[in-house]
Amino acid sequence: MRRRRRPYEGPQTPVGSLDDILSLTGANPLKIMTVSDDACAASTLIQYRMFRDYGVCTSVDSLFDAPPETLPEGPSRERYLARKSVIAWFKAHERQWTPILYRYEIVKASAKRERDWGHLIFVDMSLCRFLLVMVYPSICDCGECGTNRHDYEAMTKYHAHRFMSLLKCVYHDLEIEGWVRATYTTPEQNYTLDPKFASPFEPPDINSTEDAGSIPRPPIICVKSDNFVPCLLLSELEKIDNLRAQDLDSPGQSIPPHVRAQVLGSKDARPGVGSVWQQRNSRRCSHCGILKEKNLMLCSKCKLDYYCGRECQKLAWPSHKRFCRQG
Ligand SMILES: [Zn+2]
Ligand SMILES: [Zn+2]
Ligand SMILES: [Zn+2]
Repeated sequence: MRRRRRPYEGPQTPVGSLDDILSLTGANPLKIMTVSDDACAASTLIQYRMFRDYGVCTSVDSLFDAPPETLPEGPSRERYLARKSVIAWFKAHERQWTPILYRYEIVKASAKRERDWGHLIFVDMSLCRFLLVMVYPSICDCGECGTNRHDYEAMTKYHAHRFMSLLKCVYHDLEIEGWVRATYTTPEQNYTLDPKFASPFEPPDINSTEDAGSIPRPPIICVKSDNFVPCLLLSELEKIDNLRAQDLDSPGQSIPPHVRAQVLGSKDARPGVGSVWQQRNSRRCSHCGILKEKNLMLCSKCKLDYYCGRECQKLAWPSHKRFCRQG
C-alpha cells in the first residue's frame, strides 16, 4: 500500500521559521515535506539526520503553554501538567536541551500497551545526544496498582535501550557517538529532576546525586552504542525501512544486515513489570470518564487523550483543542 504524502504539519513548532531553516541548510523543501507527519521517534530521527550538520530541531514546548485553569478535568490533565512541569524545569536549568517528543512510539503503531509509550525526549545541538524523561504517577508500593519504583525503573531502562537501538538504526552510517541518558520523575519529586541529569558537562554515564532527603532519587540510566540491549522487533525494523524509503536523503537504502543484527531484539527484552502495565492502552474515556471493556481510540494528534467513540471526541473538542495542536 502506498502511503499518502502530504506536507509536514505535525504539532511541532520550528525553531526559527521554515524559511530560516531552508536558507540555513540550503535544503530542498520537498525533502522536508515528504517526511511523515506522524511524529513517531523514527520519523523524527530520520528528519533530524538531514539537518544534523546545522543543529536544527523543532521544539514541542509551545504545545504546553495552556494555563492549567483552562484544562479540562480528566486523565489527560495530569499527563499534560507533568510534561509542562518537566519542560519548565529544563527552561529554568539547562536551556540547551530542546523537547522534541512528549509521548512517542518508536515507530508508528508499535505501541500496543501503555508501557510501550515513551515520554519526553530532549536533544541538544548535536542532535545525537538525547535525554529521556519518563513521567509517572505517584509511587505506591501496594503491589496492585503498578505504580512502584521497580516498574518505573524497568520501563525507563527499556525505553532508553529502545531509543538507542533506534538511534543506531537511523544513524549507523554516520561517524558520531550518540547516547541516551534516561530517568523518571513523579509527583513525589514535584516533577523536577536531578540537576546532574541535564548537565552538559558530564560524560554520559553519571550516577544520580546521593539522596539527601527521605525520598530516594530515581536512578540515571546511561546507554551508549557499546552497551545497549538491542530491542527492536522485526516488524518495527520493516516499518523503519519503509520510512527511510520515503526519505529522499537515502532513497531505497534499507538497513544493512550487520546493523539489523546489532539492533534486533526479541520480545524477551521487554521489562518485567506488573500486570497493570501489560494491559492494553487506557480504557477510561477522557470525556465521559466511563471505564470501557473495549479498546478506546486515541486522539491521533496529541496522543494524550482516549475516547470511547467519535461522539465523545467531538463533545470534548471545545476544551481539548486548547492543548491539542496548538499553534
Ligand atoms: Zn498502589
Ligand atoms: Zn466517552
Ligand atoms: Zn488531542
